[in-house]
Amino acid sequence: MKKILIIGGGASGMMAAIEASKMGNQVHIYEKNEKLGKKLFITGKGRCNFTNNCNTDEMLKSIYRNPRFMYGSLNDFSNEDCIKFFESLNLKTKVERGNRAFPLSDRSSDIIKALKDELKRRNVSIHLNLQVKDINYTEDKIFSHIILNNGEKIEGDICIIATGGLSYPTTGSTGDGYRFAKKLGHEITDTYPSLVPIEVKEPWVSYLQGLSLKNVKLIVPNTSKKNKFIYNEFGEMMFTHFGITGPLVLSLSALVGEYLKNEPLKAYIDLKPALSFDELDSRILRDFHEFANKSFKNSLSKLLPSKIIPIIIMLSEINEDKKVHDITKEEREKLVYLIKHFEITLTKLRGYNEAVITRGGVNVKKINPKTMESRLVKNIYFVGEVLDLDACTGGFNLQIAWSTGYSCGLHLGD
Ligand SMILES: Cc1cc2nc3c(=O)[nH]c(=O)nc-3n(C[C@H](O)[C@H](O)[C@H](O)COP(=O)(O)OP(=O)(O)OC[C@H]3O[C@@H](n4cnc5c(N)ncnc54)[C@H](O)[C@@H]3O)c2cc1C
Repeated sequence: MKKILIIGGGASGMMAAIEASKMGNQVHIYEKNEKLGKKLFITGKGRCNFTNNCNTDEMLKSIYRNPRFMYGSLNDFSNEDCIKFFESLNLKTKVERGNRAFPLSDRSSDIIKALKDELKRRNVSIHLNLQVKDINYTEDKIFSHIILNNGEKIEGDICIIATGGLSYPTTGSTGDGYRFAKKLGHEITDTYPSLVPIEVKEPWVSYLQGLSLKNVKLIVPNTSKKNKFIYNEFGEMMFTHFGITGPLVLSLSALVGEYLKNEPLKAYIDLKPALSFDELDSRILRDFHEFANKSFKNSLSKLLPSKIIPIIIMLSEINEDKKVHDITKEEREKLVYLIKHFEITLTKLRGYNEAVITRGGVNVKKINPKTMESRLVKNIYFVGEVLDLDACTGGFNLQIAWSTGYSCGLHLGD
């Protein structure tokens, strides 16, 4: 029987505890908050999109950073296993659009309750309101003890670091795990807020606040590689008073942090991606025939959302009062171009306070992908978001937490 100390009672820490306790180990969770799973509670807008019921290929494609590192743990505990696991804890689940899995009750608190009941059933000791301040190892590089904020020294056989990243710090993720990892000799890859809104330079963007665009294409060319894109996807996005957000933008945010560190990036919205340039031109021509005697500003209502029309008119440099029948071919072509290349300048990701996850973290090169054990200090393990693993929205980030936590618990001491 081993004494196992887990730092952090979030998704990955609780899963590691459940699995580790199966071997008859004495498992302790140290959580600095007053309760377990504070972040889990707010996931999926309070509904907890706890995994994604997709196939393995899609699962791996949805993991942006180090998907190969996840082969072993997804094999130990797949998304399918995850659904079965919660069902086995008497939690009914459902799968919605995009294969997103939720508790049938739509309550994240039910996920937390299921986990807490299981921890209790397995006699895991929970220590709340206790922050781990420090972690120590022997001269032979073997884990020895942790130090709590009350000064207490706790010895153990194994330590699992499940402290999460930096996003939503009010939930307890304040980067302590990175500090511990550095002390143990681990490299931390650059961290960025991810799955986060993006700020835009154009001052008129605040005028578009609240405008939601469906079925548009968001394109970010890679200026250093001709004809290559950093991002080129269809979907839904929204304007805010500072820039853009919504599903397309959150996915984009995972890819542009490194670029925005150096300079702003041009992005283009194709407002009519289903129409080619010529098709859109013909469509506008038809509208212009219909509205031939109207002024330009009153001719676009069938084509575009009303909020964006004044901006398109301004950018087109066509006098808004010009009669439609007086608009030249060149002017019309410029309008078509604008609608298919609505240009904005991305300046900055919003901060960790608004980021669903942290990109970057403990470099996985020095972590055993089968067991999650540090390759530098024996009997110390890392699980969940503290690792340099991240995925898109849809339940994939929690699956990373469950799978790495499970594999760690399963292979402890291997
Ligand atoms: C608003 C929001 C919505 C989200 N929605 C979804 C979703 O629907 N689906 C999805 O897949 N993912 C979602 N995520 C991401 C997901 O919540 C995280 O990826 C996941 O919680 C990471 O789990 P973790 O166990 O690694 O870290 P966390 O859940 O952050 O847990 C870490 C725990 O460690 C504790 N801790 C930290 N340092 C110490 C210390 N020194 N001593 C003691 N305790 C410590 C913290 O208090 C915290 O409780 C969402 C995130 C946010 C912010």
